[in-house]
Amino acid sequence: MKHFFSLLLGCLLSASVVAQTTLSQETQSYVSHPRGLYVLQHASIVDGTGAAPKTDQDIIIHGEIIEAVGQNLAVPEGATIIDMTGKSVMPGMVMLHEHLFYPKATPGGTFGVNEMSYSFPKLYLAGGVTSMRTAGSIMPQTDINLKNFILEGKVPGPKIDATSPFLDREGLGILEISPLKSTQQAIEAVNFYANMGSTSFKVYNYITRADLKAINETAHKRGFKVTGHLCSITHREAADLGIDNLEHGFMASSDFIEDKTPDECEPFKQHKSLLDLPVDSPKMKALIRHLVDKKVAVTSTINVFEPYTGREVVPGGGLQALYQDARDKVYRRWASKQNRDSLDYVLFNKSKVWEKAFHDAGGLLVAGTDPTYDGRIVAGYANMRLLEIFVEMGFSIPEAVKICTLNGATYLEQADTIGTIEPNKIADLLILDEDISKDIRAIRSIKTTFRNGIGYSSEKLFRAADGKVGIR
Ligand SMILES: [Zn+2]
Repeated sequence: MKHFFSLLLGCLLSASVVAQTTLSQETQSYVSHPRGLYVLQHASIVDGTGAAPKTDQDIIIHGEIIEAVGQNLAVPEGATIIDMTGKSVMPGMVMLHEHLFYPKATPGGTFGVNEMSYSFPKLYLAGGVTSMRTAGSIMPQTDINLKNFILEGKVPGPKIDATSPFLDREGLGILEISPLKSTQQAIEAVNFYANMGSTSFKVYNYITRADLKAINETAHKRGFKVTGHLCSITHREAADLGIDNLEHGFMASSDFIEDKTPDECEPFKQHKSLLDLPVDSPKMKALIRHLVDKKVAVTSTINVFEPYTGREVVPGGGLQALYQDARDKVYRRWASKQNRDSLDYVLFNKSKVWEKAFHDAGGLLVAGTDPTYDGRIVAGYANMRLLEIFVEMGFSIPEAVKICTLNGATYLEQADTIGTIEPNKIADLLILDEDISKDIRAIRSIKTTFRNGIGYSSEKLFRAADGKVGIR
């Protein structure tokens, strides 16, 4: 299932080393290292493969490509040397559940979201994301244009795998989602959005089994994958119907409702069933085994379940990124939840165990931050935080990095060009002021995000978005 996206990357790669993207003035204003020839010397590297960190390494970046990695490399003529003593490098993150929208206040208390086409691409790049899948869109045409604008150098941002709008039946009442009325309409929607430029598909809470079967078949025929944030369909049913990916770990699993009504989303029963399920339940073990056997990837968005008590207001920092109203609202909610979120803690802790069990059983665990919900999750900042939570879950630092880099690339079928620090891969990498091989919190010291061999100042990108999230 080769994506248009990876084909395009392949072309860029072959034509690349000489081709200099023409960057707009706007994009250039964030560039700290124009495309060229660089030697990063004496760096610690967590390379994305899951291997143990290496110290005192040199990396040669030539144009768009990582040319060499090793100890004491000869400095090519004309190269700019970057001294990395005490600093570190990891691959750019490849995240699979990101969005380009943020919650907004809507009349009558309904839930709605606004497109953040200005601030979010900058924040993602600032927070170390060089490739991302949008995992559900409210303005597909905007996401697709943005993807192209970024590739053309008009605006700074990560490479985007643009997902279709949420494919769902009537039920959630979200202002920006248009419910499907039939399975036939679901098929037409897949073809319509694939023609428009969507390269992945997302099903949602109220979809039926007949819809999902048809969506999987239609998308797969065209070479695209399908993921789901489910409720009406169990994870086991979805796996049997051929879905490629399941979102939110096991927190959206309705497999453990005793008397589940087929094709119906029963959120309260679902929530209770997970609270009641023992953390070491053999039923969960059996589900995990089934998903691994069916080669269904699972996306962790565990950061959205991070409790409030004793934790950051905006995980990863970044309260200043929000415009004033959003800042007040997020802060008020955080304050009101202090010491009142014990149930959140129960589910968060179970979730950690179940996702790790899936990984340890051989499943492809991928990652995304899902910046929606109550406005507390902010693009870029959340990506840094998620990496830290993986270590809190018991993953080693190299494993945590791999989940956020190579695993994403593997799912996107781009592991031959991105996801690790290896010769001949695209130079998508992060320069960190501190040593991430020693402490995962060094992720917050991102200095430069290299994307396709061009280095962007993380600080400048973050500052450009201050006060803008929620507005544009
Ligand atoms: Zn989402």
